[in-house]
This record gives sequence, structure tokens and C-alpha cells, in this order.
Amino acid sequence: MEIIKKFSKQKWLIKLIMDMDKEDRGNMLAGYKKRKRYYTSNLPDFEVNLKNLAKCALCPDMCGFDAPCLLISKNTTLSPQNKSRLALFMGMERIPMDNPSAISVLYSCMNCDACKHWCPMDISTGELMVEMRGELEKRDLIPEKLHHLKNRIDDNGSVFEKAPYTEESEFNIDMPNSEVFYYIGCVSATERKSMVRANIALLNHLKVKFTTKFGDRNCCGSPLYKVGYKSVAKDLAQKNKDIINASKTKIVLTDCPACMNMLKSTYSDWGVKIKPKILHFKDFILDKIEKGELKPDKPVDKVITYHDPCIFARGLGETEISREVFAKIPGLEVKEAYLHGEETRCCGYGGGYHVTNKELSIKEGLIRLDQLRKHSPDYIVSTCPTCELSFLEAQKNSKNDKYTDKIKDLSEIVAESLGLNF
Ligand code: SF4
Ligand code: SF4
Repeated sequence: MEIIKKFSKQKWLIKLIMDMDKEDRGNMLAGYKKRKRYYTSNLPDFEVNLKNLAKCALCPDMCGFDAPCLLISKNTTLSPQNKSRLALFMGMERIPMDNPSAISVLYSCMNCDACKHWCPMDISTGELMVEMRGELEKRDLIPEKLHHLKNRIDDNGSVFEKAPYTEESEFNIDMPNSEVFYYIGCVSATERKSMVRANIALLNHLKVKFTTKFGDRNCCGSPLYKVGYKSVAKDLAQKNKDIINASKTKIVLTDCPACMNMLKSTYSDWGVKIKPKILHFKDFILDKIEKGELKPDKPVDKVITYHDPCIFARGLGETEISREVFAKIPGLEVKEAYLHGEETRCCGYGGGYHVTNKELSIKEGLIRLDQLRKHSPDYIVSTCPTCELSFLEAQKNSKNDKYTDKIKDLSEIVAESLGLNF
């Protein structure tokens, strides 16, 4: 499926070549053959995809019209194409890897994949920037303002100053013979406690035996990996795999798209195999509703607007499950945002952007929040604790209606329709 999608995006290139006259085609192919010298680097241990960097660097910024990194900064140096161009020059040693201005450009990206969505060559500049940041880690060049993230992992296994995973936490639950490992995200346990309580209420309502293993587990590693600490994230992957696989549960449930993507895809790319099935709560809830095990029958007479998290909508190409859940709740009306589904816009917190580019991150959060409240919904709903946190933070800087109590997770809406206390 992925290959067909990729190929169909490149049909235009074949047509272009076929439409050329013989001489032009010959010149183009001769140039194409010579390109290979641009795809290698003399830098020791340099692993970034130089071929994709070169392709992107030569592109006339075809995704720029919808790239939030460019739209909010209004600085063309930060466009996807220019980021790739600069990274290519770093990889080819024309710009030193330790150049501070160049390094700051590598971090001017939210890893939202808006570029990939529109890219005719299916390139994600965001992924290329993550690879480049990994090169910085190898050379001990990760900017100082990010060091605290790694230090906190060393201190307490999370990216937060105060450890969320403690024996004393209200979320430390370990039922005998658990069937489900509720892998609570760092952001959820720290900043979105009402969502975690709703999820626990849902599991209790279903009489599911579950564990959270707060005494042992760690952050999934996503925030570390995205800012360049790939080796630290790989260590976390090993530790989490050992804990999850030893738990003998059949399902790992996550409340965070980033956790889900790490446990399911990124760990697997690194050869770290989590044995149980991995599901996000929205998938689990829809499955239980369809099987008749969950019956959300109390009307929720509210208008909502749903914010699609980038990881689900563009990363995994999944936009319908949440909407199918909403359709099962009596009284609930969904009014779509101007940009929704695969065209969703980043909340501003992706890729550590709120740490590396705080002001722009808040600006992006406000822009998205304004799009989401266009229809004056009773609730703005998402399925990502980080997006929800971003909107809560943006709200503090907003002059418009206060939405602080109106930002909800899908689980909270479902729990409301089940009449659960949480
Ligand atoms: S991501 Fe694709 S469309 Fe955007 S600048 Fe790079 S090559 Fe061009
Ligand atoms: S991933 Fe998003 S923020 Fe990063 S370059 Fe692409 S469009 Fe810009």
C-alpha cells in the first residue's frame, strides 16, 4: 500500500521525462548518473539520507505553502527546502557540523510531516532533521538547552522534573493476572490527569485487569529521539521492552500517539520487539463499542471540534476511528475545523519545538486553537496529551474566550456518556 502511494506520487516525474525531447532527456539522465558523488559524506559514521537531502534541497519548496515552520516564522531560511539544503552542506562538510546558526536551523522543525503530505517525492524534511540531530548527538553537539531532558531521564526515567512514575502515584496499579498493560504517557501522568482517570474508569467499568508498573517503567523515548538523543532512546526501548514482555499482558494500551508510534514502529525499526499487541485507547474503545461491551448511551448534548494529532493523521494515515467513536455517542455533534484529517495543523509542541523555539511554539498553538474554536464548540477534543497540553499553554496567552475547561480527551467524552465518575 505504502509503495503504491509512493509510486503514485512520482508518476509526474516519469511523465516529465517521457515528454522531454531526446537531447534534453539524455542530458538529464547524464546529470542524474553523476549525482552520486553528492550522496556520500567523508564525515565518519554519517548516516543521514544524503540522497533525500539532495532531492529536497533542489526542490522549489513545493510544500512551503503549508509548512508551519515557514508560515509562523516568515523566515525563508527555515523553509523545508532550505533546511535540507543547509543539512546537505553540513553532511558534505561545506558547513561545519558545529556551526551554531546551522544547528539552530536543524531544530526549527516540529516534525509535523505537513511537508511530506504535499511532497511529490514523499520526503519528510522532519525525519531528515531528526536524523541530522542524531548526528549532533554522536559529536556531542546537542544544544545545551536540551541537556536537561537527558538529565531528567537519568534522574527519574521521564522528561519531567518531578518523577511521574513512582510507587506512591495514584496511577500505580498492579492487578494480579493483568490482561492489559496501561502504558501511561509522561505528559498524561503529569499534565492530563483527568484523561488518565477517565481511562482507568473505563477499564474498571469493563472489569479489565490491568497493570501500569509505575515502579519500573520509563518514558517511551520519543521526546529524546526527536531532539537527537537516539542512543538514549534506544536504551529506553530495551528497558521498556524487558518490562512489558515480562508482564505477560496481551495488550499494551497507550493514551499518547507518540508512545504508540515508538512502541510499535520505531522500536521495531531498531529490532526491539514488543510481544503484546499495541493499541491506542481510541482503537480499544471503538472495538469495545462495536462488540457491545461498552455502551455509551447517556446523551452528551454538546458541539465538539476534533483536533487530529499529526502522528495519527499524517504519520499513520488514520483519521476515522475517533470520528467513528463520536458517531456512537448520542447527542454529540462534531463540527470540523478548517484544517482537519490529513491536512491537520501541528499544535506547536512537536519535535521538542516548545523547548527549542518557545515563542514560535506558542504562536503555532494559538493559530491552531483559533482554527479549532471557529465554530465556538463546547469542547475541543483530541487524542494526544501533548496537543491538549499545547492548547492549554497557548490558552494562557490568548485574549479570546477561555477554553481551559473545554479542552478534553476522547476518553473523557466517552466516560461522560457512560455516566462514569473520574
Ligand atoms: S519536502 Fe518535498 S516538497 Fe518539501 S521542499 Fe522537500 S522535496 Fe520539496
Ligand atoms: S515536518 Fe513540519 S515543521 Fe518540519 S519541515 Fe516539515 S512542515 Fe516544517
